Amino acid sequence: MSVKDDTSHPLFVSDENREVARDRVKGYNALISDYMQLRDTIPTGFNRAETIMSQKKKILSLRGAAGSDWDSWQWQLKNAIRDADVLSKFISLTDEEIEGIEQTATRYRWSISPYYAGLMDPEDRGCPIRKQAVPSLLEYQDSEEMKDPYAVVYNSPAPLITQLYADRLIINVTNICAMFCRHCLRKKDIAHQDMIYTREDVAQALAYIAESPEVRDVLITGGDSLSLSDSYLDWILSELEKIPHIEIMRLGSRMPVTLPQRITPELCEVLSRHNPVYLNTQFNHPKEITAESRDAVDRLIKAGVLIGNQSVLLRGINNDAHVMKRLVHELLRIRVRPYYIFNCKKLQGIRHFRSPIADGLNIMENLRGYTSGLAVPTFIVTAPEGKGKTPLAPTYLLNINRNGKVLFRTWSGHVCEYEDELPCDMPSETG
Ligand SMILES: *Cc1c(COP(=O)(O)O)cnc(C)c1O
Ligand code: SF4
Repeated sequence: MSVKDDTSHPLFVSDENREVARDRVKGYNALISDYMQLRDTIPTGFNRAETIMSQKKKILSLRGAAGSDWDSWQWQLKNAIRDADVLSKFISLTDEEIEGIEQTATRYRWSISPYYAGLMDPEDRGCPIRKQAVPSLLEYQDSEEMKDPYAVVYNSPAPLITQLYADRLIINVTNICAMFCRHCLRKKDIAHQDMIYTREDVAQALAYIAESPEVRDVLITGGDSLSLSDSYLDWILSELEKIPHIEIMRLGSRMPVTLPQRITPELCEVLSRHNPVYLNTQFNHPKEITAESRDAVDRLIKAGVLIGNQSVLLRGINNDAHVMKRLVHELLRIRVRPYYIFNCKKLQGIRHFRSPIADGLNIMENLRGYTSGLAVPTFIVTAPEGKGKTPLAPTYLLNINRNGKVLFRTWSGHVCEYEDELPCDMPSETG
């Protein structure tokens, strides 16, 4: 007999109760109907494939290159766009904007991989890709210097190392990136000149790690760790593996977003020989999720690399609950796990990207419960003076001990009194 007719079956549900359940589902659906209506108006790299293709053709012909050049990351880096006149040949820019770019470039360098430039909307000045990549006068006009001496001076116990915690630390191996994000928190370090630090410097960092038995997790970052050659990266990973207390290695790289061509079979072969390797990248908007990015992620996963995403909360780009929801959904589809959303720090030249902490909390409120737990990152505010990443979340706990009960509200706003086991000596509050 089927479950439907067998009243003694543990999964048997009467027709009336099915109706109750269906009404309840209607209630759940109502909670996401605003998103369901808006979802398809939020562009992704997949549904913009035609525009991206025609921009790609324009850039290739400007550079006098063949289609196959596009797939070479060396070609991409060599042909990076660093000139406002070239840029204006494939996206519309006013004379003032061109002037703004040139003026800003006297203070902060810029460079955009042809691949990432191809994702920009040719007409829309508010395009989230454009805002991340094209210098704006707002950067230049933000002249108030904000020094963060703690960033380096007090947090670097050995060359190239930043350490804020006992069991994990960062080695900064380069300040080169495939695209210099306008919102970069390390805008100062990115400076004007390319630097890949020498093996002697890295060796000193490794010696410090070898002498620090508490350290079990090493993050290799910069800049972009995948700006290093395959052999340099292979060397660092091999050296780390020789240190018995190192349990995991992490790479910080935006290449899956800004230059997916860098994820070559040769690189993946190197990575597949080291274990366990995690890579954290930075997708900030669903427009960045393209077939090329997905394929790069596929190659990394096949090489055994586990990938997480650290977005930065950026005004006018992703400080919106629906955009962020579409982003985390698209990330899971390409097998990237949302890890953090960082609040944008108050630093010179990036302040116009900042949005209130309330925007971050609103995003978190609209994710937890409303979508898969896997899709929910942690919202992080970096405490001043290098005091560390601090998670901020909407408040669910209302009272830890109200007459011996825990009072909280659920994701959808129901207030619950929950019978807890309390330690005998915990005082009970009345009222
Ligand atoms: C972010 C960061 C880490 C890693 O932090 P997790 O929360 O473990 O991802 C480690 N060291 C420094 C200096 C950092 O800034
Ligand atoms: S990839 Fe990272 S380090 Fe490089 S410019 Fe962008 S945010 Fe800064």
